Amino acid sequence: MVNLSIDMTDYTKPNVHNILCLFAALLVVILLFSTIPAKPAIAQVTTYPEYVVVSGDTLSWIALRFDSSLDNLLALNGLTETSMLRPGDRLKIPSLAGMQGVLTTEYVALGSSLTSLSRRSQAQPADLIRANNLTSPSELFIGREIVITHIEDAPVMTTMASLKPGQSFLEASVLAGQNTWTLTRMNRLQNPLRGLPMDTYYKPSDVESPSNLAIPGVKEIVVDNLPLFQGDTFLIEVTSDEPVKVRASLAGVEPVFVDMGGGVQMAYGGIHALTDVGVYPLTMEFSNNGGETYRFDQYVMISSGNFATDKPLQVDPASVGTEEEKAENEKFKAVVAPVTPVQQWSGLWYSPAQDADCVISSFGSRRTYNEDPNLYYHTGLDLGYCKGVDVYAPAGGTVVGVFPDQVVRGNAIVIDHGLGVYTIYMHLAAILVSEGEVVEPGQLIGIIGTTGRSTGPHLHFEVDIQGTPVNPLTWLRRAFP
Ligand SMILES: [Zn+2]
Repeated sequence: MVNLSIDMTDYTKPNVHNILCLFAALLVVILLFSTIPAKPAIAQVTTYPEYVVVSGDTLSWIALRFDSSLDNLLALNGLTETSMLRPGDRLKIPSLAGMQGVLTTEYVALGSSLTSLSRRSQAQPADLIRANNLTSPSELFIGREIVITHIEDAPVMTTMASLKPGQSFLEASVLAGQNTWTLTRMNRLQNPLRGLPMDTYYKPSDVESPSNLAIPGVKEIVVDNLPLFQGDTFLIEVTSDEPVKVRASLAGVEPVFVDMGGGVQMAYGGIHALTDVGVYPLTMEFSNNGGETYRFDQYVMISSGNFATDKPLQVDPASVGTEEEKAENEKFKAVVAPVTPVQQWSGLWYSPAQDADCVISSFGSRRTYNEDPNLYYHTGLDLGYCKGVDVYAPAGGTVVGVFPDQVVRGNAIVIDHGLGVYTIYMHLAAILVSEGEVVEPGQLIGIIGTTGRSTGPHLHFEVDIQGTPVNPLTWLRRAFP
């Protein structure tokens, strides 16, 4: 018994202690578990890229722009719907959780690809895809607005000289005076021994390169007048520091490059008004004196010109679809074909009529004549005579065609402005210039009439580029180059 009681005492005391310990331990465990859900929120800080507010921004527009709900945007930034935004304010974007840096908007430039954009901005390709909802590389067409993240205080990146055939990225990075491994990582290459000859690589620099391409000898390529619409004019300007032969092709148009001196070459092209709306590859080819040829494609969007459809027109049957009309068309086509290598205009053009706003019919409108089933379109701008009947040269040029009494065009004049750009004046009552005459901008050249295929007095003013009629308003609204 004694032994037992001793045993009891001996066992009871530690047992009470054990139970207390167990209970305390259990309490600690319970407390520990109850705090676990809060812990990861502190340990794993979610990052958000920041958008810098510009003048005119609203909270709902920013939410829409980044595919975020307004409520989420307000909650994350501690704002209410009535909060005021000031330019320079920074907003975290909830829909792009996990990304970092400052969000900026830019336009896809010639030579940009997902890889080159990622190399230049040092943003992950996956982040660029997400921020721009990209589903296909063709969506990165030239002139498209895209969102890019920039890490603040990160170095500016500039293009490296392109790899010569057989040259490794390792060799190129040494020649560029850069740390090979840093540069390999920045350019997202797995191995510095690998690299592609025509690919664009970047290195940190003090000055950002205007070009996204690394073509030997070529300093800059600019595609002007983007975004393009049906019936639009485009200009490609190439600056090189060594002789290079350039070829380009877009939507069936092959603009002719003219040497402007000082290493600059220019080519004007016209998008046909009946070109299907869509994304087209711009193909460019560069050949140097060493016999090397570089070629690349990049997509360009051609948007709708939103042209109207005119009421069916009733005109003299002898002027529609006849042999005489075909012969007249061929004659005018031949006159506007040569690309004269001298630009005779400068700056913005004048209106050829006394009242620039007296528009009777716009360029591009779809038309039918009599019972002819073919679809035609209006190849020029019809100006009435609201203030007067004078017709002026809109820009400097040379009169290369004086054609009285044509079946379709009536009394017509053709002026060559150089670089493949021509203007045509139709249905005139009188022609006041002669062939070969050099005209000054604003010079009186004719009188408005209703000769040829015309339903009333007006001037049909047409601008042709390498034979393709383009929207004349482009030339009256902006200066080229
Ligand atoms: Zn017309």
